[in-house]
Amino acid sequence: MTTNHYDVVIVGGGLAGLSSAAYLSSKGKKVAVLERGQLGGRAVTLKIKGFNFNFGAHAIYARDSSVLRTFEKELGLNIDWQDFNPTKAKYDIGSDLTAVPANVQGLFQTKLLKGMDKVLFTFEILKTMLKMEKGHPHMSIQKWMEKKQVNEEVREMMLTLASSNFFTREPEKIPSDVFFSYYSRLFTTNKPVAYIGGGWQALINEFVRVIEANQGTILIKTKVEKFHVENDRVVGVVTPEGEFTADEFICCIPPKEMAKVFAETRLEHAVAQHAEYEPTVVMVYDIGLKERIDVPFSYIYEKANNIFITDISYYDRTCVPEGGQLLQATAYMRQDEVGNKEAAEIRKQEIENLYDKHFPGWREQLVVPRVSARAVVQEIKWTMNQKPMPIFMPDYRNLFFAGDWCEGQGQLSELSFSSAMNVAKLILEKE
Ligand SMILES: Cc1cc2nc3c(=O)[nH]c(=O)nc-3n(C[C@H](O)[C@H](O)[C@H](O)COP(=O)(O)OP(=O)(O)OC[C@H]3O[C@@H](n4cnc5c(N)ncnc54)[C@H](O)[C@@H]3O)c2cc1C
Repeated sequence: MTTNHYDVVIVGGGLAGLSSAAYLSSKGKKVAVLERGQLGGRAVTLKIKGFNFNFGAHAIYARDSSVLRTFEKELGLNIDWQDFNPTKAKYDIGSDLTAVPANVQGLFQTKLLKGMDKVLFTFEILKTMLKMEKGHPHMSIQKWMEKKQVNEEVREMMLTLASSNFFTREPEKIPSDVFFSYYSRLFTTNKPVAYIGGGWQALINEFVRVIEANQGTILIKTKVEKFHVENDRVVGVVTPEGEFTADEFICCIPPKEMAKVFAETRLEHAVAQHAEYEPTVVMVYDIGLKERIDVPFSYIYEKANNIFITDISYYDRTCVPEGGQLLQATAYMRQDEVGNKEAAEIRKQEIENLYDKHFPGWREQLVVPRVSARAVVQEIKWTMNQKPMPIFMPDYRNLFFAGDWCEGQGQLSELSFSSAMNVAKLILEKE
């Protein structure tokens, strides 16, 4: 039984757990991070046959206004940003390739929209940027566009964009308020997409460096089995190595895991509801190639099948052996396709067809493929009947929550970072 007592115990060593721990330790808190496996969670980078595969996260959206940028500045993180080149981003519209309307130049070049539709689309972007449109939490983006009688082509363009940013085949289900708050930020950014040199592992290492520099404790292979509660407080977390006690606790483990550790507590029912929510799921099919196949794009999105391929090695040369290439393909999945073997096989075939079409000769260059048939990009999918978890629930006064299933800003890892920053600030304000 450990006698160690901490200011803050953080359960889960993914991006949310590590960033909140780094921030709190830099402000003088004695922290401990307890992680059941290895650090990084879904943002881990795996080395296979000399190629560094980002298992999950690969890009940061709107990095200039992101919470990660705030962490970077306040904690002095060294991040090797590799900004996306918009002239190398293309939409595959079947018979043709066309520019992605990610900026003004792309908007004027794209064949996805014609004359008047471009003007109308620009007008929609402008209204979003100026926050004139806010949407409504009780109205999906589909319903909202119908109500506002948005022109058909413009409607399709907005849904195509949403599909690629929200990693979903069902963009029409996104609540309109979530849609507009996301795009009001994305349309005003100068850095729409950025990659990280050295992969996401480099970022994880940076958070670890800050925690250790501030005498924080990190324990891997330490699974939390139970939260020990008394009245309206958490007193400790129970692990096979003993109980860890603290003044404050941050729970950074996904709701399905949370349901186990909060069984028979006041949170049992609240957590069970979040554990039942549908996550956003994709199929990832990465390939490491012996030699580069040079093509005039580094990102290609196939509109018909909602699949994109990124040439990760174009941005991060450190992820491949000399002369090699690492391509990452991501296929969005509808809920009815998740867990369905036949559907997964079809998606895999569609990805291979896309590689054949745009990277001819890849099979001869193949050194190592890596497939995740069911990767959880975000623990909560944006639909009308699913709401993110609050970062604080009054049942336990010293317990907070952070992760990409929680309330916060943005999508994906930005939700993890923003909820982590918000809970860290709440804890510091308690002083
Ligand atoms: C294929 C894919 C592509 C993605 N692409 C992007 C992208 O381009 N851009 C982007 O921003 N994001 C992307 N993401 C999302 C991003 O990876 C996640 O949002 C982020 O990593 C979530 O971090 P987290 O800390 O909130 O949760 P997690 O990473 O799930 O961390 C939770 C941690 O808790 C640990 N844990 C669980 N139970 C216990 C327990 N009982 N005791 C102790 N520890 C426990 C787990 O092992 C894990 O390490 C992608 C994800 C995937 C899968």
